[in-house]
Parts: sequence; structure tokens; C-alpha cells
Amino acid sequence: MGDEAQAHGAGNPELPPAELFINGEWTAPESGETLATENPATEETLGAIAAATSGDVDRAVVAAKAALNGDWGGKISPRERGRIMWRIADRLEERIDEFALVETLDNGKPIFESRYVDVPTVIECLRYYAGWTDKISGETLPVSGPFVHAYTRREPVGVVAAITPWNFPMIQAIWKIAPALACGNTIVHKPATYTSLTALKFAELAHEAGLPAGVLNVVTGRGSQVGEALVRHPGVNKVSFTGSTEVGRGIMRDAAETIKRVTLELGGKSPNIVFADADIDAAVKGAYNGIFYGKGEVCAAGSRLFVERAIHDELIEKLVARTRRLVPADPLDPKTRMGALVSAKQRETVLGYVEVGKNEGAEVAIGGEAANVEGRGYFMQPTILDGVSNEMRVAQEEIFGPVLVVIPFDDAEEAVALANDSIYGLAAGVWTRDIGKAHSVAARLEAGTVWINQYNWYDSAGAFGGYKQSGFGRELGRQALDHYTETKTVYVGK
Ligand code: NDP
Repeated sequence: MGDEAQAHGAGNPELPPAELFINGEWTAPESGETLATENPATEETLGAIAAATSGDVDRAVVAAKAALNGDWGGKISPRERGRIMWRIADRLEERIDEFALVETLDNGKPIFESRYVDVPTVIECLRYYAGWTDKISGETLPVSGPFVHAYTRREPVGVVAAITPWNFPMIQAIWKIAPALACGNTIVHKPATYTSLTALKFAELAHEAGLPAGVLNVVTGRGSQVGEALVRHPGVNKVSFTGSTEVGRGIMRDAAETIKRVTLELGGKSPNIVFADADIDAAVKGAYNGIFYGKGEVCAAGSRLFVERAIHDELIEKLVARTRRLVPADPLDPKTRMGALVSAKQRETVLGYVEVGKNEGAEVAIGGEAANVEGRGYFMQPTILDGVSNEMRVAQEEIFGPVLVVIPFDDAEEAVALANDSIYGLAAGVWTRDIGKAHSVAARLEAGTVWINQYNWYDSAGAFGGYKQSGFGRELGRQALDHYTETKTVYVGK
């Protein structure tokens, strides 16, 4: 570990206790059981988290319900809610290095990403939604009937179960927590088992910043127990889930029993389309960032690169040259741009897909193997598979790692048809200097987000979510507010 890493406090991270955060305090799980959490860059045990069971979930839901019916739902005005959210953002900003460090140790992502992207994004998202708290309003209705007046109220949905994955632990959580708080809901958060530490720390910080007890509770433990208990709990009004399509399907089924509101942000196999008239160097950079940012463990990763045949060789040559300089290394080194995959299991899955691709006839243009970083950690070489066709498994299934597949095309019609030939529809990229073509292709792509001449950019004001089996509902932007409110119509008689 270098001096710069030490400067980030790497030797002494402040970890939360192996307990649950319910009703504003730390509490042991009923089972008394804990689960170890590992640093994927060193394979060393980092700490432990509590393994909650259904009794703990029940306590958390009861606390969230009480908070909803208490000050948070009654006495605290929307504007005051906004002030509290700003204070949380300010406190987090003061402790940005500490949170970034724990995120990196738990997930394996470069400290550069945690410190300069993940935690700042969380702070910014909190401030964006803090601004919405006193702007969520109903309307008067132009009714004709035996009424003197009719209007709508926008009310909180109630208790929200937020279930989040391990790839962007803090960002995925705040995309749910911030709009839910802005609308006056209370929350029970179930973070991913691999990466629960920052969620626990964040809940404590939010409480210290003035969020009343019970408004944000965190229950950790196995998804199949804790997650499922939350989804089935009759006291939970809405489930907001981000994760795999397979678990998303199960959540829909489990939520059906109590007719819960559900929003799902699931997997993707996003096309990144480069036309021959594009700025090739910019497209190379976009293709590279589209797949290798976040180790490729990104739901919206541009994992299918469609290249117009005329520029295929030039683009691949440049992309491979750039990728050769991306060397997996210690995530705590500020210069590192590729960290460790989240777990041994995830790396095994990703490497397994490389073998599948080779057996299907793909050529490995670069990478394809585990990477050796001081003989430990779940590192993998950034990988490009060329000579792929869209019906291969490596082009249809989400790999969720640093593996790009390259598919040639001949014209815009074919590019759009191939891009849309997927069960997923989360995001897409288009690279061209022809503005008419860019907009026409963007309109025809079945994807919730399209980036033109850029990739992987987000803004809290821009709704994000999927078409097709990438899920439904939208996070971020004004649209997210609709998923955290109910509309009540009130008729006033004579
Ligand atoms: P999962 O979908 O299993 O996990 C996401 C979250 O759901 C975690 O908090 C998990 O808890 C929880 N969960 C698991 N089972 C249930 C259940 N039955 N009911 C309620 N909640 C549950 O993702 P994985 O971590 O297993 O990753 C597998 C694959 O999913 C990846 O390889 C990738 O393809 C995809 N994925 C997509 C993501 C995205 O952003 N769209 C993010 C992460 C993964 P626990 O961690 O305890 O299992």
C-alpha cells in the first residue's frame, strides 16, 4: 500500500458494528448470527454484518410505520424535510474520504471512482431531491358535478422497501432513498450482502444529521431471507429493487400477494453503436469507458459494441491499444482505474463467459484471463471479444464484468435491428457526426437512456430505467417522484 493510500486512511477505516440499524439505534439481530464481509482486492476479511431474519424485518417495518405516523408524516413540514436532507448531504461531504474508503474496501472499485464519482453523486442526488420536497403538489380539478370544489393531494406511498445491489452500493441506495424521503416516505433498506457497510454507516450519519428515528432503517443479511421477508411483509407498501432480472421476477411474484407497488431496475446488454462517420478517437474512448468503467459491473454498461464494417479494423486497433494501458491494480492507489471484481464467484462467472464466447467462435482481441495483482484478489484483465454475432450467448446474456463483445454492421437499419434484438433495453450509445441520423437512431432504440457521442453520463435530473426485461419505473428526475407518491382525489360537496 503506497503513501497516497495511507493518506486516505486505508489503515484504519471506521466500520459499522455487525448489527442492524432500526429505529435510530444499533440493535443485534435476533439470530445472533453474523456474516463475514471480504475485501475483494486482498481476499482478507474486512468485517462482519448481521444476518437478519424475518423477526428483525418485522421490527424494522414497525419502526418505519411508526415514523410515518409520527413526526415525519405529520409535524415535519416538506420544507423542513428538505433542510434535513441538505444537512445529511453536508455531513456526508465532511466525511467523504471515509465513506469512499469503506466503499472501495468493500467493493474493490478504485478509490478514484468512490472518492470522485460515487460519494459526490450521492451528495448531489440528496441535494437535488431536497429541492423537490416543497414542490410536490396536487392540483384543482375542472369537474362538473354536485361539488363545489375538487382537488388532488400527492401523499407518500408509505413504507418503502429498498433492495439494492453491490456494484454501486451508495449510488443505487440513494437513487431510492432520496426521492422516497423527498416525498415523505419511510424506508427499510436491504443492501447487498457483499457491500452492506456504507449503507449502515449512511443510516447512522443521516440520523445524526437530524433524520428522525425509524425513517431510515437498514436490515442486512441474505437476500433470500431478509429481502423476501421484506417483499412479503404486509406493512411494506412499495418495493424498489435494483439487481438481477431473475431476482426481479421473483420479487414481482412475491409482491403480487399483497399488491405492492413495485419498481424494478434490472440487467442490461446495452448496445453502443459506432457509425463510420463518427469521431473515431472519441468513440474509442466512449467504447472503453462504456465497458471498463466500474469494472464492467454496471447495469448500463455498453457491453455490445456495434461497429460499422468500414471502420471496424481501425477502431478495434485503437481500442485494443488503449485497453492495453488499463492495468488492474490496487484499488487504493489513486492512479488505479481498474479494481477487483466484487467476489470470487463473480470473477468465475465472468471468466466462464469468456470460455463460452471462445467456444462460440469469438476471438479474444485482448485479455480473457484473471489478472495477477500481487498474487491475490479477484482481478481480471479487461477483455475484448471480436468476431461476435448478435445471437451468441455472450451477446445476449449479461456478463456483468469487463468483457466487451464487438459486432460489425453495414447500415443504420441493421444496427438498430441488432441493437433491439435483446430481451433487455436499459441504455444505448450512438456515435456519429450526422445529427439527423443520431436523433433518428435514438428514437428507434428500445432503451430507457440513449447517449449520443458520449456514454455512461448521469444526472439526478435525468430519469433512468429500462424498457423490456430491464425493468419498469424510473429512478432519478421528476419521474421518480411519481413512484413514491399516491394521488388522492378529494371532492368537496355543497
Ligand atoms: P441479485 O439480484 O441476487 O441481488 C440484488 C439484491 O437483491 C441484493 O440485495 C440481494 O441480497 C437481494 N436479493 C437476493 N435474492 C432476493 C430475494 N429472493 N428477494 C429479495 N431480495 C433478494 O444480484 P447478484 O448479487 O446475485 O448478482 C447476480 C447478477 O445480477 C450479476 O451477475 C448481474 O448480472 C446482475 N446484477 C445486476 C445489477 C444491476 O445493477 N442491474 C446489480 C447487481 C447484479 P444478497 O446480496 O443478500 O443476495
